Parts: sequence; structure tokens; C-alpha cells
Amino acid sequence: MQDLIRQLLVELGEDPAREGLVRTPQRVEKALKFLTSGYDADIDKVLNDALFTVDYNEMVIVKDIDFYSLCEHHLLPFFGKCHVAYIPQRHVIGLSKIPRLVDVFARRLQVQERMTNQIAETIRQKIDPLGVAVVCEGTHLCMSMRGVEKQNSFAVTSAMQGAFRNNTRTRMEFLELIKLRSAVPGLRDSAATRYECVGED
Ligand code: ZN
Repeated sequence: MQDLIRQLLVELGEDPAREGLVRTPQRVEKALKFLTSGYDADIDKVLNDALFTVDYNEMVIVKDIDFYSLCEHHLLPFFGKCHVAYIPQRHVIGLSKIPRLVDVFARRLQVQERMTNQIAETIRQKIDPLGVAVVCEGTHLCMSMRGVEKQNSFAVTSAMQGAFRNNTRTRMEFLELIKLRSAVPGLRDSAATRYECVGED
């Protein structure tokens, strides 16, 4: 990877031998490996020691989880907050594991819609809850830095399953708790806000 990054620096019109750039290929490789480490993560290892059987079926919410990801169209960051809720049936996930789960899917080349769905789908598969809801709010540098449609550089995506999809009151209670009621139009079971960074060509 370091040779490629050295070559990239040349293509950009830089001198990879100049003092400030000498160790850049090493640093970039290390950074990129960390930022894409989600590919190697084992979800069962992340979660397995923290699935508990409980007699509890009220809504569990973990909100304002920071996420940092890379847009797969431009390899530029998008980042923001993720809110996760579910209604347990028999099992719960240790609360501290939810942000870890978000990291597993954020640390890849992503689009925000897919990341949102993957988080929800994984929770559904692992604990079969009565419902699961994930809302992500992200700022996309591929849009804001390039000056493309700045007003759309902030995206809200959501995935609603089970009770959050079928029961308006449950859904509204969740949105009320994360204060996003008006920001998520026409909620469905998949990403609600049609969004993609423009200018992929
Ligand atoms: Zn992009």
C-alpha cells in the first residue's frame, strides 16, 4: 500500500521525498487499515459475551453514538450520530456493545443507507427483538468539501423493523426521544431519506 500512496503523491504533483511527506505513506496505510478494520471484525466475538436473557420488553435506546465512516464513492469521510433502539423479546445486548456494533459497520467503505440497514439487520438477527430502529445523521465531506449541493451534505437515514415499522406510537416515541420527529420523513423499513452523494462520475 505504501508504494501506491507514494505513487499517488507523485500523481498529485507532490514530491514524496520531501521532509513532510517521507513518512506519509506509512501513516496513510496505518490510518486506512484502521478506518476499514470493520471488514475483519467478527460480530459474534463483538457481541457474544454480552447477549443476555431477560424478562423485559420496554424500549431500549442508545442515542448519540458517534460514527466515522468513509464514503465508498469518493473515499472521503462521512460522520455523525447514530441512534439505536430495540424492544427485546427475550434477549438484550449489553449496552456498551451497541457502539461497537456501529463501529464494525462504519469502519468500511460505506454508503450511509447500507450502514444504517446493516446495524438494524444485525440486531434483528442476533436477538430477534419485537422491533428495531436505527437512525443515522451524517455530514458528508465528499459533498461539503467539494462545494457540491452544500445544503444536502447532511443526510438522515433510518431503518425501522417490527414494532417500529408497524406501530406509529412506538415509532413516534422513539423519534421523540431522539428529537428527530420532523427530520425523518415517510419512514419505512429501509432508508427513508433517499440520499446519495452526487458526482460519482
Ligand atoms: Zn461521496
